[in-house]
Amino acid sequence: MVKLAEWQGKQVFRKYGVPLPRGEVARSPAEAESLVRAGRVPLPCVIKAQVLAGGRGKGGAVRFANTAEEARAAAEAILGLEFKGEKVRAVLLEEKLPIGRELYVSLTLDRTRRLPLLMTSAKGGVEIESVADAEIVRQTVDPFPGLAGYEKRRAAKTLGLSGGPARSLDHLLDALWKVFQEEDAELLEINPLAVVGDGLVALDAKVVIEDDAAFRHPEFAEVRDDRTELEEIAREKEIAFVQLDGNIGVIANGAGLTMATLDVLKELGGAPGVFLDLGGTDDPKKVTEAFLLMARAKPASVFLNIFGGVTRCDTVARGLVEAMRQVPAAERFPLIARIRGNNEKEGIEILRSAGVTSVPDLRASAQAAVDAARSSP
Ligand code: GDP
Ligand code: MN
Repeated sequence: MVKLAEWQGKQVFRKYGVPLPRGEVARSPAEAESLVRAGRVPLPCVIKAQVLAGGRGKGGAVRFANTAEEARAAAEAILGLEFKGEKVRAVLLEEKLPIGRELYVSLTLDRTRRLPLLMTSAKGGVEIESVADAEIVRQTVDPFPGLAGYEKRRAAKTLGLSGGPARSLDHLLDALWKVFQEEDAELLEINPLAVVGDGLVALDAKVVIEDDAAFRHPEFAEVRDDRTELEEIAREKEIAFVQLDGNIGVIANGAGLTMATLDVLKELGGAPGVFLDLGGTDDPKKVTEAFLLMARAKPASVFLNIFGGVTRCDTVARGLVEAMRQVPAAERFPLIARIRGNNEKEGIEILRSAGVTSVPDLRASAQAAVDAARSSP
């Protein structure tokens, strides 16, 4: 998923004419102060942490300021935060608007009905998960004609809007629909959408771009995702690599076998930490790269579970042996292998020559990986 930070999402919204507060991004307290002093952010203003997690309002990551000094102090407090595990590297400073009501609007995909879905709720401002189901109105949208007039009027009605704000909603929904289509979004969320005077203003923005369409949007290529550093490197090398919370590394091939391997380890009381899906790799160099990446995650033990189909067991074994040679002795970890299938004998032989025994039974080998992780320092 390509998740945009609030300010990036708002940049996209602005391009399509969604009404927004005036605002600027700052990466230091001094920059925040000078933006206010230069009049590029009007006072009073709101200072908001640019992290991907929600709930910033409740978590102290949204603050208000009446002076440039206060803006600086707020930026200083927020930039020092680690919000839900994410370091705050930027703040968004925006004019503080007098809010009438807070509403909720989103466009997403209903995967069951295979249609875009417009959701609206008069109970905006709080996380949508905590709004009673009956208070959220869902309308699927036919993607070919797009959002129809009656659908927009229905949304206005359920939001309790008429007159100016209702007209504002009409334009806003057209703009959102356009963003949804043209930017290949899978989620657009405005919460809160605030009634300000006689119109509406999007105070928050959540934009997620469908990653299968990312190639059509090179402008988002730089967007930092919620990937870890190692996952980022893996992505560049086109290696399927995911970091979890546990300490056992898993190398398998194919999504099915990889998932099943994680399940078996869990069932035996182990905690999978990193998993690597070699897929149908037939390049020992790629196996070596993948394995070295795994080593950098410092697993307590590694369980290699390969079924040689497209991937040949000897290819994997060769790559692995080469990689183990490159891992410094101090960083080595116990490696438990189970390789079966195409060229199994050759693979096992290559591993044996490097001191690794392949255990053919799944449970027995997984248990060995769990035990090894447990007894590692
Ligand atoms: P979230 O909690 O991470 O979703 O962050 P939001 O962007 O939704 O901000 C949280 C809350 O801050 C909103 O629900 C508003 O009540 C408040 N807020 C944000 N911007 C403004 C503003 O311009 N004026 C006022 N009065 N309140 C604001
Ligand atoms: Mn919000």
